[in-house]
Amino acid sequence: MFTPPLARLIEQLQKLPGIGPKSAQRLAFHILKRGDKDVQDLSQAILDAKRKVGLCQKCFHLSADPICEICRNPNRDQNVICVVEDSKDVIALEKTREYQGLYHVLGGIISPMDGIGPEQLNIQSLIQRMGGGNIKEVIIAISPSIEGETTTLYVGQLLKPLTKVTRIAFGLPMGGDLEYADEVTLARALEGRTNMN
Ligand code: ZN
Repeated sequence: MFTPPLARLIEQLQKLPGIGPKSAQRLAFHILKRGDKDVQDLSQAILDAKRKVGLCQKCFHLSADPICEICRNPNRDQNVICVVEDSKDVIALEKTREYQGLYHVLGGIISPMDGIGPEQLNIQSLIQRMGGGNIKEVIIAISPSIEGETTTLYVGQLLKPLTKVTRIAFGLPMGGDLEYADEVTLARALEGRTNMN
């Protein structure tokens, strides 16, 4: 149907998450219409990001430098670490502008079904960060799912003897209706209630 170079481009685009055959075709046609310079910039940006972006040696957040900007920032609270599954979660928490501490990205969650055990995750390095004794609190912020719960409990147990461990409260979404919330969400919201006094 498509001339081979175009078919190859569509095939590659279709490998991206959330891109089906129709979207891949639309993107490919769009790319062909763009100027040479634009297309050059796009491919260069992809190659550059892939070559230059690695993981922070301390917290495993995506970073072009050996130590990421968050870890290097002297204004961040060096005594608190927030444990998350993925770099995407760091970005989400940073957008709230509520959190001023450091992070630790696990790089996944414990999932025996997918063959992911604790040894595949950045857990040992997290324990090592407790070594200096200056971490006053670890906040576990992992999405609520069976695997997420397993991971939270596992990490929590390991850290409890070393420092104060807390987990973020899960509750109802803004604009959400109490009567339509599932029991687990509602139970968790109740459990995570805060004092108004
Ligand atoms: Zn870092």
